[in-house]
Amino acid sequence: MFQRIRAKLYQWRKGLLIPPTVAGLIIATGLTGILQPLELLFFDQFFRWRSPEGIDPRILIVTIDESDIATLKQWPLSDSVLAQLIQTIKSENPRVIGLNIFRDFPISPGEEKLNHLFSTTPNLIGIEQIIGQKIEPPTKLSQLDQVGFSDLVVDNDGKIRRDLVSLISDQQKQKLSFSMMLALTYLEKEGITPELGNSDKDEIIIGKAQLFPLTKNSGNYINLDYGGYQILLNYRGKKDSFQTLSLLDVLNQNYPKNLFNDRLVLIGVIADSIDTDLLTPFHGSKTTSGTIIQANTTSQILSAALDNRPLIKVWSEPLEWLWILTWTSLGMGMTYYLLNKNIFPYNSFIKYGLFLINNVFLGFGIVSSSYLLFVQGWWIPTVTPLTATLIVSVFSIIDRWKYLATFDPLTQIPNRLYFDNILEQTWLLNNLYRGQMALILCDVDHFKQYNDTYGHPAGDTCLYQVAQCLRIAIRRTDFVARYGGEEFAIILPNTGREEASQVAQRILEEVRNLRIEHQTSLTSNYVTLSCGVASLCISGQGSTKILIEQADKALYQAKKLGRNQVKIYESFLLEA
Ligand code: GH3
Ligand code: MG
Ligand code: MG
Repeated sequence: MFQRIRAKLYQWRKGLLIPPTVAGLIIATGLTGILQPLELLFFDQFFRWRSPEGIDPRILIVTIDESDIATLKQWPLSDSVLAQLIQTIKSENPRVIGLNIFRDFPISPGEEKLNHLFSTTPNLIGIEQIIGQKIEPPTKLSQLDQVGFSDLVVDNDGKIRRDLVSLISDQQKQKLSFSMMLALTYLEKEGITPELGNSDKDEIIIGKAQLFPLTKNSGNYINLDYGGYQILLNYRGKKDSFQTLSLLDVLNQNYPKNLFNDRLVLIGVIADSIDTDLLTPFHGSKTTSGTIIQANTTSQILSAALDNRPLIKVWSEPLEWLWILTWTSLGMGMTYYLLNKNIFPYNSFIKYGLFLINNVFLGFGIVSSSYLLFVQGWWIPTVTPLTATLIVSVFSIIDRWKYLATFDPLTQIPNRLYFDNILEQTWLLNNLYRGQMALILCDVDHFKQYNDTYGHPAGDTCLYQVAQCLRIAIRRTDFVARYGGEEFAIILPNTGREEASQVAQRILEEVRNLRIEHQTSLTSNYVTLSCGVASLCISGQGSTKILIEQADKALYQAKKLGRNQVKIYESFLLEA
């Protein structure tokens, strides 16, 4: 039983060892960060593949665009224009107003009017910038705690994929982002306030939403600057995913009735000449305005809290490793099956075609399952399993070629080429350690007769059986190969003639025990072997050629003396 398990393990050793090794190496390579840009390419592509979700009905963006500025002929907007804008919106009964415009100092005229509005509009949230170059919030809003920071976190490639939700300020005060302030103010009316969840994971629960902060190697990020409380940004989309109204339309009261009623109104710039150039997963080099990103970050919290729309989460590292290992093992298994099973034994063209299709199929499987999981809100490795799977299948094909070049297809033991190499290597090694090595040549007795009696196909089967029997009968350190037609050779390193002769006797015995019927043999009723043994003390003299010659002579003697026996080479035989 134990033996059988050991044999099976040996047979499956490549399948058991290679996928974990390759997967481990690729995971380790991934930790250097070189795969991250590729993983991010897929991440961005997944956003573009996803079908549009439709607009978020809760949010209305009041945009200040190029034509508004051109018509008003002013930028920044004066306090009086801003006050008029806020006043108009306020009178339409919105639930929350977000002012995504910096106002760290007054811009006359209208300072008093604006300050009065700031003091008397409890559902108005303003912005400040707190990372790097600071920009102060409007003083009145700050006094009332109606301010959130508008800082955005940018990836190394300049794209925004994360949302910084909160931060501890230099004054050791916990500060919330602008979009989080907007979302929480909006949700207050629904009776939803943030709660702490699993404290080990720093979980925050907001209605139906569960937030988990990103850490150093979250998802496919490596060595992330994960300061503060950051989550991934599950974009709803570009500008057209939100309903918008221009500043002039508001000022001219050119909008349908009840448009603002109970909604979250975000006021912000989208004019290219003013707003900063921000990159998102949606467009390659085309930039987006901060207002659209703020709308997205706000919308993702609202829709997760109220509609259970997924936030993007990541797997734990062990689960990611298991995912990579599963694909790598599957890749190895499928490629091995295709290449080694005799599905199309004589048509390697079809075989390699299938190999290619198989790889494309596996690649498609990895990308599509990653994408399907992404749609469900999971960001998992894609490039890592793709690379690992490709490497194992290339490895499998090289291994297959190596096998074809060094193994005899009929007997499935090493061929003559392999034998010649090992013989030279063993000779050199033994020479190095001044050792001794032996060689056994075996030849099937009366094999021509066997073929003539039972036919060539039966002869082939007989050769296979004998070869497999030899493989098992030799010692662990010995090496058996098909030397020629019905001849086999065994290399025995560090072995003297007596010991080699014992091995040869055992081989003879085992072959006899196979009891392969051979009616026309002149020696026995069963298939038998004759063996010639030679051994050389290596001391700078001799060569592999001499060793072979001696074993061959001993084999000739064994044949001459009646077959089915072992003969050791003796120098006097030369004269015999
Ligand atoms: P001896 O006892 O003297 O070795 O006699 P023998 O008939 O075995 O020796 P001989 O060298 O005359 O014949 C070897 C035969 O082995 C001839 C050849 O057809 C057969 N043979 C060699 N390779 C294969 C093979 O791959 N398949 C089959 N079926 N037969 C083979
Ligand atoms: Mg023979
Ligand atoms: Mg022969």
